[in-house]
Amino acid sequence: MKAKPKKLKVVLFTGYNCNNRCVFCIDADKRALPERTTKELLALIYAAAKKGADVLEIIGGEATIRPDFTALVRAAKRIGIPSVVCATNGRALADLAAAEKIVAAGLDAVIFSLHGPSARIHDALTAGPGSFGQLMKGMANLKKLGFRRINGNTTVVKGNMRALPALAELYAALGVRNVEYIFVDPNCGGAKNNFDELVPKISAAAPYMKKALRIGFAAGFDWKARYVPLCHFKGYEAQISEINERALFLTEHWAPDFKNTDAIGSRRVVSRMRPAACEGCARFQVCEGLWVEYLKRYGDGELKAVKK
Ligand code: SF4
Repeated sequence: MKAKPKKLKVVLFTGYNCNNRCVFCIDADKRALPERTTKELLALIYAAAKKGADVLEIIGGEATIRPDFTALVRAAKRIGIPSVVCATNGRALADLAAAEKIVAAGLDAVIFSLHGPSARIHDALTAGPGSFGQLMKGMANLKKLGFRRINGNTTVVKGNMRALPALAELYAALGVRNVEYIFVDPNCGGAKNNFDELVPKISAAAPYMKKALRIGFAAGFDWKARYVPLCHFKGYEAQISEINERALFLTEHWAPDFKNTDAIGSRRVVSRMRPAACEGCARFQVCEGLWVEYLKRYGDGELKAVKK
């Protein structure tokens, strides 16, 4: 049987300006770079449509705080991109009128970046007092408007890993169907700069991540874990984002300071690594191992080749 063709996903970065200052942010050292202009972004949206993008993910920084955000979404929908989604900290959506405009523009799905089950944990990680309350209000506003495609993502760091089960209960209570628990990327930005304070050992984080997945499963949701070594997720292979996305998507990243036309493939060979400990592992072909910077700091002692 012929394999289904992969969908093209273009991740369009509007710039790195943001109304949060997440401590682990991969773009922490890029804040001073200029934002893209509306004209530039419209040209890129047309280019993405011309290239046949099935999915356009608009991200920042924080794209929703741009005055032209709704115009960008509207343009992408008018030109016929099937799915236009946005990853957001959700603060702008706390304003019902702003949420209304965004929904009316035709946005297909929203991915909320929620990093804890409480204001205490979330706001400490975003360095944005009030950001948890605004995200919750933003989510409630979307629901009030009848918008259903609400997703979540959570960056897993030392400061929230123990709270992942509580966060999973919250996601389940809110009925968030798609959630990703993302093991923090320490290759650059905030997590690299503050590695010891932020980056947990995978052996410490994995049990909490798996517990969160099980809570989702019990509630009827097929949530995912991202950027994890498979030897710590035996039996959870169907819930690993990388495995799923490799089968479904070709992903391009179009950022102001770089363009990557194979974000999935290059991550495997540049940003992550399967070190010596992986030799002979039965999962070697499907696993991406661990972040390069993680291995530099913590070594590969936690990895254990999976037997055939
Ligand atoms: S030993 Fe290496 S290749 Fe095997 S599952 Fe663990 S990280 Fe992946």
